[in-house]
Amino acid sequence: MLLTITTTARPATDLGFLLHKHPERVQEFGQSFGTATVFYPEAGDERCTAALVLEVDPIALVRSRGKGSPDFSLSQYVNDRPYAASSLLAVALADVFRTARAGRCRARPELPGTPLPLELRLPALPCRGGPGLARRLFEPLGWEVAAQPIVLDDGFPEWGESRYVRLTLSGSARLADALNHLYVLLPVLDDGKHYWIAPDEVDKLIRAGEGWLHGHPERGLITRRYLGRRSKLARTALARLAELGDETEEQLEPAVEEDAPADEPDAQEVAVRDAEAREGAGGGAPKGRSLSVRRREAVLAKLEQLGAASVIDLGCGQGELVGALLARPRFARVGGMDVSSMALTIAARKLRLDRMPDNRRARLTLFQGALTYTDKRLSGYDAAVLMEVIEHVDPPRLAALERVVFAHARPGHVLVTTPNIEHNVRYEFLTGLRHPDHRFEWTRAEFAAWATRVAGQYGYQVAFEPVGDDDPEVGPPTQMGVFTRDQRS
Ligand code: SAH
Repeated sequence: MLLTITTTARPATDLGFLLHKHPERVQEFGQSFGTATVFYPEAGDERCTAALVLEVDPIALVRSRGKGSPDFSLSQYVNDRPYAASSLLAVALADVFRTARAGRCRARPELPGTPLPLELRLPALPCRGGPGLARRLFEPLGWEVAAQPIVLDDGFPEWGESRYVRLTLSGSARLADALNHLYVLLPVLDDGKHYWIAPDEVDKLIRAGEGWLHGHPERGLITRRYLGRRSKLARTALARLAELGDETEEQLEPAVEEDAPADEPDAQEVAVRDAEAREGAGGGAPKGRSLSVRRREAVLAKLEQLGAASVIDLGCGQGELVGALLARPRFARVGGMDVSSMALTIAARKLRLDRMPDNRRARLTLFQGALTYTDKRLSGYDAAVLMEVIEHVDPPRLAALERVVFAHARPGHVLVTTPNIEHNVRYEFLTGLRHPDHRFEWTRAEFAAWATRVAGQYGYQVAFEPVGDDDPEVGPPTQMGVFTRDQRS
């Protein structure tokens, strides 16, 4: 399996910087299913070509799937994977050109953002749907497409054409975009069972499709085929893509996170997000309203109903609620606090703090702090919100948080939301808690017991409300406690 990438930009050897592979070396990269080799058949100032050759070891391929694979059978030994595994090529490409695909180049930071004259060649590409489909997929992205069907056997022209094409894409594009187009569209053209599709494939697709997939006329077909026709995942992905059309800034993972693969959400978290998106997408709503959106709406509605004019969001994360509060003039003063400076940096960017009009900026206080230490800056608000925060605090530290919020800050109202663990059985892929950082998740009875005890101890009344669809058996996905300070105290 071969892919070549050629540029005629001058100096053409800049391609080496962009790919992070030296033009004078031959480099091998072991994959769980074989070996990927990168070398440069030509590397001159005027023209430079990098080649990625993938040799697939069919035995390793089968082993790498593991026993849990749903399609474990002899057919895996007897197939065309080793010769034309274009979806495996996509996996190898993602691994070998990871940094290039993310659009980063430390040595020459200006390079990744510059479109280059490029030619991508794939001499034998499985293409279910023929040359026509290859054109429908690549032309809307600005590529000039040459796709020639390959005859089954030169000696027997009457056998007709195989399902392989010789594909050449030419055009001017940023290299990262070109690699992401291939990463998503090669498995789509192949449409074989390429590897076990994990729930986090939705995230990978959304990330690789950033900036081009949501506007692609064939995004339905691309999404369904990429996700191996798993219709639930495809619906989730399409709902998220539909949101992207309107809310690109809000919905995309911030680019900074790409630098830290260790921070990537794990499969469970993604499973919950997928399931949450599905849940939100139910009920005939034209666009999927994810659980996080419904949670935010529930909190906003409650704050309005309580007549709060000043609100502090404790553990504000990336500032989604803070932004929504600022957008409503009735909230005259808005506070946002979080222990994570990374979260606050992202919040500042998403809120466009540097460009915020003065009158809006004057209503906002955003600061770093820890909920387990008394802090004067938390006082003086009508209401405080703890949205999906308490479950991130170690149980032995929870008493400190209670004192800080209910005894010292002491707002008129406190809104607390937290997962209802009983609902977790409704998440198909989930095997533990909903997020790797959760220290606990409570049943409705456990949350009620905690909240009732805290209310009694600090002079508050508490009422409970479901957030999300209230399942008759296991309750809603999120539970909310609404605390109101006693008049006397
Ligand atoms: N409220 C946001 C974020 C929830 S994630 C939302 O609903 O989208 C939990 C947040 O709580 C994280 O941003 C985390 O940094 C913050 N957090 C966890 N422990 C904290 C503590 N002790 N003090 C302040 N913030 C904390």
